[in-house]
Amino acid sequence: MDNLPSIGDRNTQTIVCSFCDDIILRPQTAILTNKPTLLPQMNVEKNSSTDTETNRLSINGSDHVCDSIETFWLVSDMFTFENVGFSNTVNNQTKYLVCANCERGPIGFSPINPLTRQLEKEFYVASDRIKYK
Ligand SMILES: [Zn+2]
Repeated sequence: MDNLPSIGDRNTQTIVCSFCDDIILRPQTAILTNKPTLLPQMNVEKNSSTDTETNRLSINGSDHVCDSIETFWLVSDMFTFENVGFSNTVNNQTKYLVCANCERGPIGFSPINPLTRQLEKEFYVASDRIKYK
């Protein structure tokens, strides 16, 4: 039986895209971090009956239904990734991470420094939006 990783652990397995199995991170390259964050849902359904006011985020002017995600794999250098893509800047403060191969996402996010407009050296990959191999 696999032991679930705990906060502060490094990934023991390869982290891959849950859709196309493209490798995102090699083992031992990321640290599990508790960082509760709203991330837009990967499959946006136009189903107003399930709308909730609490899990909504306005992104560049349009509303998105979000999941509240607690744990992320934290990487401090972009070049640690095997494959990753970036969305356009959102709300002048974040770029979302997407799979570089199938472009599904967001699988995570990276904050942007509001002064320099550069990416901070913090890349968060949502632990429940990826698979392990
Ligand atoms: Zn993919």
